Amino acid sequence: MNYDVIVTGARCAGSPTAMLLAREGYRVLLVDRAHFPSDTISTHLVQPTGVSALARWGLLDRLTDTGCPPIDTYTFDFGPIRISGSPGTADSPVAYSPRRTVLDKVLLDAAAKAGAEVREGFTVDDLVFDDDRVIGVRGHGAGGGSVTELAAVVVGADGIHSKVARSVTADEYHQRPHLLCGYYSYWSGLPMEGRFDTYIRPNRGFAACPTNDDQTLVIAGWPFTEFAANKNDLENAYLRTFELAPEFADRLHDATREDRLYGLAVPNYFRRPFGPGWALVGDAGYNKDPITAQGISDAFRDAELCSTALHRALSGDQNFNAAMGEYHRQRDEQVLPMYEMTTALATLEPPPPETQQLLGAISGNQSAMDAFVRANAGVDSPADFFSEENIGKLLAQAADGH
Ligand SMILES: Cc1cc2nc3c(=O)[nH]c(=O)nc-3n(C[C@H](O)[C@H](O)[C@H](O)COP(=O)(O)OP(=O)(O)OC[C@H]3O[C@@H](n4cnc5c(N)ncnc54)[C@H](O)[C@@H]3O)c2cc1C
Repeated sequence: MNYDVIVTGARCAGSPTAMLLAREGYRVLLVDRAHFPSDTISTHLVQPTGVSALARWGLLDRLTDTGCPPIDTYTFDFGPIRISGSPGTADSPVAYSPRRTVLDKVLLDAAAKAGAEVREGFTVDDLVFDDDRVIGVRGHGAGGGSVTELAAVVVGADGIHSKVARSVTADEYHQRPHLLCGYYSYWSGLPMEGRFDTYIRPNRGFAACPTNDDQTLVIAGWPFTEFAANKNDLENAYLRTFELAPEFADRLHDATREDRLYGLAVPNYFRRPFGPGWALVGDAGYNKDPITAQGISDAFRDAELCSTALHRALSGDQNFNAAMGEYHRQRDEQVLPMYEMTTALATLEPPPPETQQLLGAISGNQSAMDAFVRANAGVDSPADFFSEENIGKLLAQAADGH
């Protein structure tokens, strides 16, 4: 074996996994077919939980040094009701929305600095098996010649269409279909003053947040059932959406569009994240609609849980199945409530009457609005915020005039 671990895919999931394992002293090969800095189709809000991971890894300064502005307030505008609050905690008070060209490069450089061997422009074509056990990858670089590399474990951090997940036919469960199409672009002259603003209207949602280079990302979404109807006139469909909030449309009118439209609709699924000689992290193992902007922070969480489990297995502290089973259990337990909320929100159906009553009740109650925002940010569990007990408490507070 040339390597202890080969990681395929070097963005939010792959680079931190490689970095954390290399920091433990393992021989790690990190490959990606892209060359960095490299963009990808994704908006890029990093929730306070993700920011906290960057701080733990000693990488937050490298991000803030790029001039990416902090975001300390999320506002959810439902039309008649507006909920505004802080997404963070005392330890991690803000979010950031760095361009992926910036964030992914910071992560890749950190993996290299930790000692991982990084191969950019390298495509994994196949896995190498010994019976049913994965023992390496076969791929090619820019020169085109086929190269085989062997390792004790191959980690697939290769996104939604994961070659690793397909090659090992990882079991899928909790699948939901494509629910929403999101299209975004970048604008200048649209100051956000530290806010991430979301507008929710029947069958439509849109949002704006500040990013690098004094630009603001503006995304609009509609149900996937309208994909065919809008796909030939995306520009109009995108711009018309903002007219549902005239004050935002006016602000956009005074701003300047700096880029073309980008967009994607994604499937929702969990995949079993390990088997003999292989593991999955990030979107390769679990994906959900981006409406709640969890993917990057989830990828960071996977990187920590999976590298901890692999360290236990590779060091002989625990057998591979027991260590990776724990990674699987923790991942699913931590993300399932957010998965349920995300797939419900991504339908863009109007909130049910009981949710509308709750929104009316918490509007103006700052601590309740902060808690709502933290649940939407995934900082606190949505299961706790939307529990019968908590809803009862908030409605009672409203009845007492807070
Ligand atoms: C429209 C949209 C908006 C989003 N907005 C947000 C948001 O605001 N906040 C948020 O947290 N998340 C958001 N997400 C989700 C987020 O983009 C993903 O969850 C995140 O990128 C997952 O990171 P990853 O490393 O698992 O996979 P990816 O970022 O997909 O990276 C996979 C890497 O693997 C490489 N690769 C694939 N196959 C091979 C191969 N065979 N050989 C070599 N390399 C390979 C690719 O080149 C790529 O670099 C959004 C997603 C979409 C689609």
